[in-house]
Order: sequence, then structure tokens, then C-alpha cells
Amino acid sequence: MTQPPNVYDAEPIPESARAEIDRLLSSGDLFRYTAADDAPVALLEREFADMMGAKYALATASCSAALFLSLKALDLPRDARVLIPAFTFAAVPSAILHADCQPVLVEVGDNYRIDLEDFAAKLPGADAVMISHMRGHTSDMDAIMALSEAADLPVIEDAAHSLGTSWHGRKIGTIGRIGCFSFQSYKLLNSGEGGILITDDPELIARAVIMSGAYEHNWKKHKGPQGDNSPELEQAFARWQNKLPLYNTRLSNLAAAIVRPQLAEVPRRVRDGRRNHDYLAARLNASPWISVPDKLGPEQRAPDSLQFNLEGPTVDQTRAFQAAAAERGVSIQVFGLSSDNARAFWNWEFLGKTPDLPRTRSMLMKACDTRLPARLTRPDLDWIGDAILAAVEAVMGGTDRQFGT
Ligand SMILES: *Cc1c(COP(=O)(O)O)cnc(C)c1O
Repeated sequence: MTQPPNVYDAEPIPESARAEIDRLLSSGDLFRYTAADDAPVALLEREFADMMGAKYALATASCSAALFLSLKALDLPRDARVLIPAFTFAAVPSAILHADCQPVLVEVGDNYRIDLEDFAAKLPGADAVMISHMRGHTSDMDAIMALSEAADLPVIEDAAHSLGTSWHGRKIGTIGRIGCFSFQSYKLLNSGEGGILITDDPELIARAVIMSGAYEHNWKKHKGPQGDNSPELEQAFARWQNKLPLYNTRLSNLAAAIVRPQLAEVPRRVRDGRRNHDYLAARLNASPWISVPDKLGPEQRAPDSLQFNLEGPTVDQTRAFQAAAAERGVSIQVFGLSSDNARAFWNWEFLGKTPDLPRTRSMLMKACDTRLPARLTRPDLDWIGDAILAAVEAVMGGTDRQFGT
């Protein structure tokens, strides 16, 4: 191979989407509430809920909109304190601000997961917990659920990047009260933009559905797992009729038609993503200057990117490593080193003063991130692995072995 593998392009949308897209284009039927029944968005919700083993799903304009609606559905008081990991995407604290709540940032360790000591310390006084499984890394959900339940706090899972991941065999996104997913193009299901939330709670889904923009009696087009015969759902909708603002964060039929045929691809994408990740991780772990943190015991991952830590580098060495990898055709992001990176908490200036979080900061200054889409082949992976290993050897190997021994 003479060209570096392309890690940016998404997979093609399955051919079978075309007939439905054509039908929607010729009828112009793009709004989810025009058809009396079985609009593509409604079908997607049923299929996604069934795939996840959840009772209800609500498709939204983005995962961020799903996170926002989740907080609104929980009916939290104004200025409620919501715990989030300090390693997440800027859209997460933004969704919390949008819902008139306050994010409380919790330290994240070198393994990209929530620091449980800091979590337990910040729990008193919190009103809700939002767990971003950032880059698909699952935090210890046994401990988080036990601590949150003991404090009687609802847990929302930001599973935007964790579709296909499981914890003790349970699907990530079904462990908390609400799970939120993204259909943005870098995620496992791609409609450009879009998201979905799942829950088993009729009260929460009724509130979220109405606020997502089910004005008048459009909520009648949202059904439970048994179709129409869900008295608890009907009662919840009736209870909230006209009582809630409409934020209009709906998904369009076109996006749903693009996602639906991809649902059947999920098991393959998960399998291939995990295989690629584990193969490259083992190669990189053989280097004395690189460590790829292990998955947690109960976790089965569905990665489409790889994160690894350089061992004890100076900032100059980290920058030199990035440059050496780039020369070899592999782009490595170090979250804390690129200016204005949206995953570095100190750039979230919209929060006002950001707290001092030394553990998270130290991780962000050395954690390297490379994309690894499931469609890559073994030669692609070797190309990327060879480039990273040669780059790290060139930079760290020339430094008097001060870090290797
Ligand atoms: C992508 C992502 C989001 C945002 O999803 P959108 O659909 O773009 O709003 C939130 N959290 C995590 C962990 C993500 O990876």
C-alpha cells in the first residue's frame, strides 16, 4: 500500500434505502406526522426500541436534542446540578445549560473513564447524573448505578458513541432511566444528523414526545410495544396535554429512511470495529512508550476509534510524535493540544469559570486519538500501526531511553 488508508469516509448507505427515499421524494412526505400511521420515523422508533429491548423510543434532531429532552422530561428544578464526566464533547454541558440546569464536572482518569472517588464526592447536592460513555469507553456502571440509586438520583446515559457496547451483557443505553444515541455521521448509524432516546418509563416518554414537537394530538402516532393498547402511555399523554412547551426537535422521514436499513448492519459493524481495535491495540501495546488502557471486565466494546496514552512524554515530545505520525500519513489528535478542542473542558468558556481538574487535564494532554472505522482491512490496520510505531520510536527512542526503563 502506498497511500495511507482513508479513515474519514463513512460507509455507503445500504442500496435498499433508495426505493424508500425515492418514494418520499416523489410524494414529498417528509414530515413525520403527515401520514396517519407507520411514517418512517415511527417505524424507526419501533425497530430501534425492539433492537435495544426498550419499551419506547423517540427520534430527535440530534443526540444533543435527546439529552436536552431527557433533562426536561425528568422535570428537574431550574439550576439543578447534573454530574457529567469532564471528558466529553462540548455539546453535553451545552445541552445541560439549554435545559436551565448546571453541569458539575467530574474527574476522568487515564483510562478515559469517570473517577469514582470524585464522583462519590460530588454526588451529595447533585440532582441528576448524565454519563457520557466518551469514545465508547464505559465507566463503571455497577458503581455509578449503586451510588446514584442510593442517592435517589436519575441517570441518563449519553450513549451517542456506544451503540453496540454492552456491560455484563446489558446493552449500554438501557441501564439508566434514559439512553441517548446519535446518528451524526461519525457514529455507528449515519443519517448526517439525528438522534434517538430510549426509556421504559411511560411518563418520561410522554413528556419527551410532547416537548419534541408532538403538538395537538400527534402523540397518538407514538405507540408502545403492544401498539395502541397501552393505557399507561395514553394516560401519561392525556396528563401532559397542553401542559408542556414545544421545542420542535423532531427527525425527518428522510433521515429515518436512511437509518432504517442500517440497523441490520449494526452487528457486523460492531464485530468488525472490535476486531480492528483489538488487533491494533495489541500491536501498539507491544511498544514500551504506548499503553492502550484495557476495557473494564464487564464491558464488550464497539469501537470505531482508538485511544492510547504515551508513557511519560513532555508536551514537546507529544507534539513531535504527532508530527512524525502525520509525516507517515496518520493523523493523531491529542485532545488537550489542539487549540479550541471541543473535548477539552477548559475550552468550555460558556460555562463561566471552569473548574481545575488536574487528573482529566493530564489525561487530555497525552491521550492520542485516531479514527478506526469498521470498514478498514487488515493491511489498512498494519499501515496505521506501522506508522504509529515508527513515529513513536523516532521520537521517544532517540531520548536516551529516559522513559523506557
Ligand atoms: C457525538 C456525541 C454527542 C453529540 O451528538 P449529536 O448527535 O452530534 O448531537 C454527544 N455525546 C457524545 C459522547 C458524542 O460522541
